[in-house]
Amino acid sequence: MAIEQARPDVFDGMALRADFPVFDRLHRSGRPLAFLDSAASAPKPRVVIEALADAYGHHYANVHRGIYELSEDATARFEAARAVVARFVGASSPREVVFVRNATEAINLVAYSWGRTNLTAGDLILSTEMEHHANLVPWQQLAAETGAALEFVAITDDGRLDLDDLRRRLGRRPKLVAVSHVSNALGTINPVAEIARMAHEAGALVVLDAAQSVPHMPVDVVELGIDFLALSGHKMLGPSGIGALWARRELLEAMPPFLTGGSMISKVTLTGTTWAEVPLKFEAGTPAIAEAAGLAAAIGYLEEIGMANVRAHERFLFERAWSALRAIDGVRVLGPSAPDEHAGVVSFVIDGIHPHDVATVFDHHGVAVRAGHHCAQPVMARYDLPATTRASFYVYNDLDDVARLTEAIHATQQLFRAA
Ligand code: PLP
Repeated sequence: MAIEQARPDVFDGMALRADFPVFDRLHRSGRPLAFLDSAASAPKPRVVIEALADAYGHHYANVHRGIYELSEDATARFEAARAVVARFVGASSPREVVFVRNATEAINLVAYSWGRTNLTAGDLILSTEMEHHANLVPWQQLAAETGAALEFVAITDDGRLDLDDLRRRLGRRPKLVAVSHVSNALGTINPVAEIARMAHEAGALVVLDAAQSVPHMPVDVVELGIDFLALSGHKMLGPSGIGALWARRELLEAMPPFLTGGSMISKVTLTGTTWAEVPLKFEAGTPAIAEAAGLAAAIGYLEEIGMANVRAHERFLFERAWSALRAIDGVRVLGPSAPDEHAGVVSFVIDGIHPHDVATVFDHHGVAVRAGHHCAQPVMARYDLPATTRASFYVYNDLDDVARLTEAIHATQQLFRAA
């Protein structure tokens, strides 16, 4: 890793690309790939690929079972990875971190385990119009099964949560507030500490969907004052198939298991079972063992850069992209304009051109973006759009990518003008 500071708060993303084998290949256009789809899933640095290979090659056995050296080694490494995740999000103990497959599973775990135990007809769950389906559909299911009501905090025209609407709805004393830290469809950074404070004053617990924040900025569960946090490894340079749920320990201890079977038990007889201590109570079956090592390596890589630097870098790229795109006729960018309220996710529409066509033309130019509803159909409905095109930045992006993005927009407009 070579981090050169082009500005005090901005490093050379281009130099980091050498750490990611996927950038070794040229796009079929003959140009380097401008990868602007990290919000969907991020490429992996060599250290993560090597950690996976090392775990599978030299330290692999099932965990929490074997009374032999290799299994004890695998178990120690798995638990060390849990401690790394715990430290990274500011948890007070690794026991507060449950390994799951992804953020979706983490949220489902809360909905099934906490929700079905604690909610009943007449209770209120509060979410927002800004959510990814992962932080929406589980609450719909929970509401349908328990008879609880489900309401959504409105979003403003410029893509921020309407805090007056939140305040009003909190007056009805919801039991749970489920909110995303960063919107994957708009790029909005929500004021989570303030939301959590307001929610707690109203007697609600707070579930934070941090799938788009933990990879990109410092996140500390204690400072934010939340109760549950969901993250996905694959969006933070780690392997797919591993994510984490963080929850306050007393909540985890009071919750019944989500999945049942092997590994999560203390004692089983034919007439009944007692559960293992947390977090193992929530980890039924063989977990993603090598992937945990890969996730720890990804966190190590990000920590070496420094999460404040990652955030500053993306903030800088957002600012440049925002002003470049706003200067192009016929381009509309969604979400808040203030860089402090906007992550490195730029969602936009080009007049008269469907986002799928935009992404197809971009691909011819070696620019990879996402087009569609971004698993946030209510957000699209809120702005009366079928879809948007989304460019998202990460550590390996640089001003060159912003230039490639604007160049691709001009080329797309030209092509459709000529057609
Ligand atoms: N929440 C947000 C805000 C997301 O952007 C995503 C994925 O795009 C998810 C949750 C779900 O993540 P996963 O598919 O890894 O479970």
